[in-house]
Amino acid sequence: MPLEAPPHSATARAAALTSRHGHADAAALLDAALTAPEAGRLAVVSSFGAESAVLLHLVAQRDRSLPVLFIDTEMLFPETLTYQADLAANLGLTDIRIIRVSEAAKAARDPDGQLHKTDPDACCALRKSAPLQAALAGFDGWITGRKRYQGGVRESLAPFEADPGTDRIKINPLAAWRAEDARAYMDRHALPRHPLVARGFGSIGCMPCTTPVRPGEDPRAGRWRGQDKTECGIHFENGTLVRPNVEGEAA
Ligand code: SF4
Repeated sequence: MPLEAPPHSATARAAALTSRHGHADAAALLDAALTAPEAGRLAVVSSFGAESAVLLHLVAQRDRSLPVLFIDTEMLFPETLTYQADLAANLGLTDIRIIRVSEAAKAARDPDGQLHKTDPDACCALRKSAPLQAALAGFDGWITGRKRYQGGVRESLAPFEADPGTDRIKINPLAAWRAEDARAYMDRHALPRHPLVARGFGSIGCMPCTTPVRPGEDPRAGRWRGQDKTECGIHFENGTLVRPNVEGEAA
């Protein structure tokens, strides 16, 4: 991985990478990201959720020491914390960075841990976005596991994109994957499943804001069920912040 920051803007870097590698498959796209000078210093951001094992396995095959940022909102299912530790060990990942909100920020904004009930956007900004933005300082880009099939604002996801409001790029090697591609990959490589998948969770976030999905439902339908909210705010999409962000901050 390059040690120096690339000289051009995130938009120019994403465009250059797209023109050369935009049609590559996930493995080739990741190879390009890990070697191209335009990519710069990269981290993976993973929720260790339902399909996270795919991206982490692809990364581990190439560079087990690549930093992996995991946001522990302190609202996660205990199963996620166990899965995170087990999967990281299984794949031999050596630089897992667990990101949490500071005690001071928590005391100031969510002292009783109930903010998710009254203002989930502010809660996501406090517990996800702000800690992630702080953790991404010093990186020129981050690799995500988002996919177009996940719908909503992800339907037009590009493999390389500028991260608006920052000088970083985002790399989405699995953008074109479908749910069945991820399942087949996990079967082929005998990757462990998040234990909540077997209990009907299609997408796994924080405990207060995640429910199982019914057969045929969108996998993300169990996230913030019954609310207008569909994303946590760590991603801008198509130049628009997906959700309001209270103090600058990353699923
Ligand atoms: S998903 Fe829910 S509990 Fe987790 S940070 Fe967002 S609002 Fe808070």
